[in-house]
Amino acid sequence: MNLNIDFKEKFESRHIAPDQEATTQMLSQIGVDSLDELIQQTVPAQIRLKEPLNLPAAKSEFDYLNDLRQAASKNKVFKSFIGKGYYDNITPPVILRNIFENPGWYTQYTPYQAEISQGRLQALLNFQTMVIDLTGMEIANASLLDEGTAAAEAMFMQYSLRKNQKANVFFVSEDIFPQTIDILRTRSAPYGIELLVGSHETVELDDRMFGAIVQYPSGKGIVYNYSDFASKAHALNIKLTVVADILSLTVLTPPGEWGADIVVGSTQRFGIPMGFGGPHAAFFATKDEYKRSMPGRIIGVTVDSSGNYALRMALQTREQHIRRDKATSNICTAQALLAIMAGMYAAYHGPKGLGNIAGRIHGLASLLASSLEELEYKQLNLTFFDTIRFDLGNLTGPIHAEAINNLCNFDFNGSEVCISLDETTSIEDVKTIVRFFAKVKGRNLNELNFEDLILGVSSRIPAELERSSTFLTHPVFNDHHSEHEMLRYIKSLEAKDLSLCHSMIPLGSCTMKLNATTEMIPVTWAEFSKIHPFAPTDQVGGYMQILSELNDWLSEITGFAAMSLQPNSGAQGEYAGLMVIRAYHADRNDHHRNIVLIPSSAHGTNPASAAMAGMKVVVVKCDENGNIDVEDLKTKAVQHKDDLSCLMVTYPSTHGVFEESIIEICEVIHENGGQVYMDGANMNAQVGLTSPASIGADVCHLNLHKTFCIPHGGGGPGMGPIGVAKHLVPFLPGHTVVDINNDHSIPAVSAAPWGSASILLISHAYIAMMGAEGLTNATKYAILNANYIKSRLEDHYPVLYSGSMGRCAHEMILDCRSFKSAGVEVTDIAKRLMDYGFHAPTVSFPVAGTLMVEPTESEPKHELDRFCDAMIAIRAEIEEVLTGSADKHNNILKNAPHTSAVVTADNWDKEYSRQRAAFPLPYIAERKFWPSIGRVNETHGDRTLICSCPPIEAYSELEA
Ligand SMILES: *Cc1c(COP(=O)(O)O)cnc(C)c1O
Repeated sequence: MNLNIDFKEKFESRHIAPDQEATTQMLSQIGVDSLDELIQQTVPAQIRLKEPLNLPAAKSEFDYLNDLRQAASKNKVFKSFIGKGYYDNITPPVILRNIFENPGWYTQYTPYQAEISQGRLQALLNFQTMVIDLTGMEIANASLLDEGTAAAEAMFMQYSLRKNQKANVFFVSEDIFPQTIDILRTRSAPYGIELLVGSHETVELDDRMFGAIVQYPSGKGIVYNYSDFASKAHALNIKLTVVADILSLTVLTPPGEWGADIVVGSTQRFGIPMGFGGPHAAFFATKDEYKRSMPGRIIGVTVDSSGNYALRMALQTREQHIRRDKATSNICTAQALLAIMAGMYAAYHGPKGLGNIAGRIHGLASLLASSLEELEYKQLNLTFFDTIRFDLGNLTGPIHAEAINNLCNFDFNGSEVCISLDETTSIEDVKTIVRFFAKVKGRNLNELNFEDLILGVSSRIPAELERSSTFLTHPVFNDHHSEHEMLRYIKSLEAKDLSLCHSMIPLGSCTMKLNATTEMIPVTWAEFSKIHPFAPTDQVGGYMQILSELNDWLSEITGFAAMSLQPNSGAQGEYAGLMVIRAYHADRNDHHRNIVLIPSSAHGTNPASAAMAGMKVVVVKCDENGNIDVEDLKTKAVQHKDDLSCLMVTYPSTHGVFEESIIEICEVIHENGGQVYMDGANMNAQVGLTSPASIGADVCHLNLHKTFCIPHGGGGPGMGPIGVAKHLVPFLPGHTVVDINNDHSIPAVSAAPWGSASILLISHAYIAMMGAEGLTNATKYAILNANYIKSRLEDHYPVLYSGSMGRCAHEMILDCRSFKSAGVEVTDIAKRLMDYGFHAPTVSFPVAGTLMVEPTESEPKHELDRFCDAMIAIRAEIEEVLTGSADKHNNILKNAPHTSAVVTADNWDKEYSRQRAAFPLPYIAERKFWPSIGRVNETHGDRTLICSCPPIEAYSELEA
């Protein structure tokens, strides 16, 4: 027995999978004596950090959760009546446990590989159908980041669609949420769009305007009838965006029925916790005629190789990876998991259930309103759905004090108070509020005849705006109202999707590492999930502590002076960082600096974000080794030195190599008056070994959903905070509602001050439990695992690009272009991998016709071996096609993936056996994952776009 009373279990050994023995074997396969030798050969000496990271000692999982309980207790969970786009609600437990808290859902990747993603594709199609039905529009996307940025995307879409190129004014109703106006300000400036903020009732519309935006019900809670305004706008060719409350649309005439061109909003109140700001899914719906201009991902119906119903992402040619700086938006990671939950919430409650929820909220709001009116408070909202508004005159102070005493948060604004009710509000809550409003006037509830008031409750929605059209009539919203049906539906969809629960997802640039359970658990603790983002500061001490620690730690890791935790994705981080650079130049009277140099190998979001920041993209060449062509860079930097804004560079490069010239590259940019923006997607190869600041960058975003363990959620959520050097700190994004502003803050880039704050807990946990040594080891093992795969596969697939010592960083590119001569495409390999139980690596990024593999430190050696075995076996299958022993068109690769239906059919006419089709290697039998459909037909679905759940009868027509 080992009486080791000092023993503490290290989380590091759970996160980093290879043990001592495996490590030794892997090092010997690679041909080095130690991990440090490998790192020396990989990371150039001149960029290595001299000192270890200065971070608190690593905590065990058990200790971390105990300590976090302390922090959590500093958050005060009040009843929130603040509204403003964030509402308490009830996450149906069947959805909470089986989706939100279920790695089978949250560890999925964006559904690029449709055949092993049909579950989430269906769930997202349900979401789109729900949005289309509730808004009364024709087409919807599969989520955006938040309501504010969705409104900004709508503004930009209207701007791109404008017929009159001189029109540059956007009318903004003064009665939309302040954080939305703030984001419109940020996003309009680079395009030279002028915002005209005013009242929709008095504004004189004219032909300088290309678009307008109003809110329904308005930011103050009023249910306006905008149909006349819509007609006036349309007469002048002005398109109209409506920001709508999704729940209210179950009882209000949908904007699609009175003239909206675009409808956006948040689906947060459909079962998603407030989480101090997020994550939540925003929606975007519009008319069919604008589909090609729509931002974000769209799920569409198509057919598979057998002609069966199949789903996949549609119209992808709009997106940044193809259109670069001409893309409809820079949205990459969105809010898939939350959209899936919101869609399930609608399926669980159905049209009637949602109507009941909305009806009760409205009834209680009416009751509260009439009670307070009875007490002779001055009601300001003659019409409303869930938000009442009173002028308190000189009673604001006492009402505020009473609200706090009763653990209620209201939205106070001068002498006005707004009170928004939600799904969790009970009649007892209403009574409590009435009681203290009465008390302040020296009266009491008994005098009020509350029972009579209850009997007298009536609708305060204008009769002409009461919804008469049906919605959510599709069976999916009507067949899952018992918990068993819901549970089985969720599980049936989950079973179609490959996630990290099944096998490694070796996606280069996406870093699909472990999302540890301990990191995930606190996200749903009430002290974190039930906090409104605009709650008073003295109620959020726990969050402030966590966010400030995370800010410090990420600053230490990046070497920067400070972070902004606001951006909701990597691409939003890019945009935020570029806007900060823009503000810095402007502050120095360098308004003209608007050229951004971007290497040809950059991720599509880079040029797309640059365009949004009003910059002009100049592409820099790469040399034959995949490195930035330093001569070309110098030439272009000098050529544009008077107007140079910045360089966007990914490090290690998108080719998975630590370029030795990086320091020189940064110097060249600085000498020519530019700033260096580093895309931090590859931070998993840097942490603890080097840092963006030490290399010479001025700004960098971190994809917390890559390097720092936030799960991908099937396409979001994510977080993309930015770190900046000292001279840029004054310009970090601010916020209108919550004061986080520095001297020269740019306006907000996200609706909430700290973005999707609740999932920042995940990264906080990761860093706290790994400590400096653990984090550095994670980087080393990420590099070890990648080089191990490289050494096992390089005799079978040429590995494109490596460092001067022949090493890759944390990922590598396998060149598959030579197989083209036999008709074997990289997609065929990707699809065949499914038969072997694996998700494909990144396909055709950054080089067309290649696969980029990134194993991460969290994969054990035997999983890497299974993957390598699969790749080697596939290489042998390719050889059969290359030599002509297998048919060029009808072979095991072209027919992949093989479904159980195909393999077990009575009819089998293939040249190879069923056994080889489905069980090509022995390990597969242990846990076979069956793709639920055959290969999707990509073009079929784009020709006839269907983006909502088709009626059941239509499924059979698809085969035609
Ligand atoms: C993932 C990625 C991005 C985009 O990040 P999102 O969070 O998806 O917006 C940008 N650049 C690179 C190199 C990436 O890998």
